[in-house]
Parts: sequence; C-alpha cells; structure tokens
Amino acid sequence: MTTTIGFIGLGHMGGPMAANLVAAGYDVHGFDLVPASLEQAEKDGVRLAASATDAATDADVVVTMLPNGRLVLGVYDEVLAAAAPGTLFVDSSTIDVADARQANASAVAAGFAALDAPVSGGVGGATAGTLTFMVGGAEGDFARALPLLEVMGRKVVHCGAAGNGQAAKVCNNLILGISMIAVSEAFVLGEKLGLTNQALFDVASTASGQCWALTTNCPVPGPVPTSPANNDYKPGFSAALMTKDLGLAANALRDNGVEGELGLLATSIYEKFAEESGGQDFSAIVNAIRERSA
Ligand code: NAD
Repeated sequence: MTTTIGFIGLGHMGGPMAANLVAAGYDVHGFDLVPASLEQAEKDGVRLAASATDAATDADVVVTMLPNGRLVLGVYDEVLAAAAPGTLFVDSSTIDVADARQANASAVAAGFAALDAPVSGGVGGATAGTLTFMVGGAEGDFARALPLLEVMGRKVVHCGAAGNGQAAKVCNNLILGISMIAVSEAFVLGEKLGLTNQALFDVASTASGQCWALTTNCPVPGPVPTSPANNDYKPGFSAALMTKDLGLAANALRDNGVEGELGLLATSIYEKFAEESGGQDFSAIVNAIRERSA
C-alpha cells in the first residue's frame, strides 16, 4: 500500500523535499499559504490540499517544514483533531528545543506518534536529497520514519528523546556561528599583519585552526573555489538563517543556565550583521569585520 504523506510548508526546503518523496513513489498531499509554492509543488507531482487540516487528514505521516516554532505549534493545534489514528508527525523545521518538546507532547497527548527531525544541508541538500537529519523521539517511531527520511537525506542520526534533534541542531550551529566569526577575525588580522589569505589558509587548514567554516565555507575569495565568497557571497546559508539559529541557541543557553558567553556574543554580532547583510551568505561577516577594522 502506498504511504500517504501530508506535507505542510512547501517553501525553499519543503518544496524540494516533497518533490523527492513524490519521485520515490510516495503519495504526497501538500499545503502552503503561498500560491507560487503550491504551483511549483503541483508541477513536482504533489497533490494539492485545501488547508493544513486537509493535508493531514488520512495521511500516514505528516511532515511540517515551517519558519518557526509558533507556526508549528499553531499548525499542530489545527490538524491534530483531524488526523487519523496512527498518524506519525515529523517536524523538520528548525525551532526552539522547548517548542519541539511541546509539539511532541501535544501530539502524544492526542494519541499520535511524533518526532522532531530538523535538517542541515540547505536548499542544495534538500534538492539533491542529501540532507542530514537529526532526530528526536521514540526508537520505534524513528524506525518508522527512517525510510522516508532516507529519501530526503543521506545521513539520519537518532539523537535520543523528543527535542534532542533540535538540541543537536542548535549545538551544531552554535559551533558554526562562533567558528565563522573566529575564522573571519583571523583573516582580517592576518591581512593587517601582512599575511596573504592563501598563506593563512594553507597553514590553518592543516593545523589546529582547521574547521568547516575555514575549509568548506572559507569566508575570503580564493582558497576554496566552491565557497560563497567566490560567488559574491550568495548563500549558501544566509546571515538571516544563521541569526535565527543563533537566537535559538541563545534561548537554549539561557533556559539551561549555561555560561555561554561566546554564544551570546556571536548572536548579537550576527543580529547586527543580518540587518545590513542584504541576504548574503553568513560568511560575508568577514567584510563587516574588515570594514570596522579600517
Ligand atoms: P521558507 O520560508 O522558504 O518556507 C516555509 C514555508 O512555510 C513558506 O512557503 C510559508 O508559506 C509556509 N507556511 C508558513 N505558515 C504556514 C502554514 N500555517 N501552513 C502552511 N504553510 C505555511 O523557509 P525554508 O527556507 O524552506 O525553511 C523552512 C525551515 O527549515 C525553517 O525552520 C528553517 O530554519 C529550516 N532550514 C532552512 C534551511 C535553508 O537553507 N533554507 C536549512 C536548514 C533548515
């Protein structure tokens, strides 16, 4: 029997993820508030639903891919009453750990199974079906979701109980935000000290400064030809999304009493930069640091 997926949120990420499920033979019943997203989804073979509730009715699995936790909780409130017994809810949005645990609890209280399954890999990964999924929830529910997560992603990690997928995402992006600022400050300092960017890259990329922000998403043009710096800082991963994720990390640091001084500082540095970044990749922070250092 064909598995029916209700897919709610067919934007930059959700659109291609739903298209990959269709291509793999799933019956996808999708909904979004934006007509252009619906049009594209229909071209990709998604059956259009009239509302979120319509998409969730009679679905075996409901996937949400929405901008924030408030919207996820709102959609859950709306659709839980209409879903069929046995439905599995999978939220792939990036949201607060606390919101993820609340969404899970409300689905479970209504008699359903639920997982948080945020992703990393961006629109490119969503399109190619190579996302990394970080999943929180019960083992049996994880096993049930695995085949469809493996259609949309290349790596799927079960991180533990409900909310732990979001916890892994927030911790990873906390490292990423701080390390991009560190790498950028080092390049600007190197320039001031008379080092070429290539010389610093050649040393740090094979020494103890090595990290993804340097070796894959290198913030200066030249050393890594595929990094956004060589393409006018087109994202990639936008400064706005990094700011959102650092905001979630900052909430989690505060909520849990962690003395995350660098995390909170990185959050305010990116908040300031996002306002002036004009949609650039988050690595363009190097240019703001250089300008302020002139
Ligand atoms: P997006 O804004 O392109 O898509 C979100 C979609 O949700 C929009 O099309 C919007 O119309 C729809 N929507 C909002 N409220 C709705 C509702 N009540 N019912 C139905 N649809 C509704 O955002 P995106 O880039 O696709 O990101 C989605 C999520 O994935 C976010 O939580 C984001 O943080 C996360 N994420 C994004 C990336 C990325 O590179 N874009 C990478 C990893 C994770």
